[in-house]
Amino acid sequence: MSPKANKGEVVFVGAGPGDPELITLKGARALEKADRVIYAGSLVNPELLKLCRQGTPFHDSARLTLEEVVRLMHEGTMRGETIVRLHTGDPSMYGAIMEQFALLEQSGIPYSVIPGVSSVFSAAAAIKREFTLPDISQTLILTRLAGRTPVPEKEALGKLAKHRASMAIFLSVQDMSSVVQALLEGYPPDTPIAVVYKASWPEEKIIFGTLETIEEKVKSEGIKKQAQILVGDFLNPSAAYSRSKLYDPSFTHEYRQGTDT
Ligand code: SAH
Repeated sequence: MSPKANKGEVVFVGAGPGDPELITLKGARALEKADRVIYAGSLVNPELLKLCRQGTPFHDSARLTLEEVVRLMHEGTMRGETIVRLHTGDPSMYGAIMEQFALLEQSGIPYSVIPGVSSVFSAAAAIKREFTLPDISQTLILTRLAGRTPVPEKEALGKLAKHRASMAIFLSVQDMSSVVQALLEGYPPDTPIAVVYKASWPEEKIIFGTLETIEEKVKSEGIKKQAQILVGDFLNPSAAYSRSKLYDPSFTHEYRQGTDT
């Protein structure tokens, strides 16, 4: 097919973590205008589909292969449709979007991406914590345990744990025993850890513990999927962090004269 043979396009949209109010305005507008929506049914809140015009065709990608998804995009854009591909959270984290981009580019189908609120940030909001505290950690590691999708050996959870930075672990709550075992390669056993199940959904659950206690707590709550695992001293409400420089009365910066000069 020649690159300019169609007038349609594909818009990848981050749906946010679950609460339908946590999609961006731009993402909501894309849904309002969509001629067709392909959504990740296992995690995207179907409430969001109510933003679409009545009669808009929907496809749950949980039942489809990559080739089938791209065929829908191909056929739709050939008819001039604007197709929204709705991904949970932010599409750039475990969204399997690059493989879609590659096939769209091969066919000359134009596409764009609208970011979303990742579940990692929704989980931090749920527990009212900041990942980056001065003197505690200025780094957030986003990772996962190896599953059917392998993780490169250089990024094994135990190796990342040695940094003792703030960490958010996706896609791993089904194997808390391996998570905890790997984390103990770097963090002390009394390190705080939180598991946030379905952040921003009505059935959200928050569990706090330490590396020693969390596995049992997660088991007794029966949480096996759709959870963020957050770990690090940033979770400790009485962590001995330093105040920010930015809001310190003595600190002068571009926008404010402090008492230091
Ligand atoms: N792109 C998504 C992540 C997709 S991978 C994002 O940015 O959030 C799916 C994993 O994300 C789940 O296994 C879980 O670890 C996490 N996740 C997705 N939605 C969640 C939610 N509402 N609360 C907690 N974790 C969630």
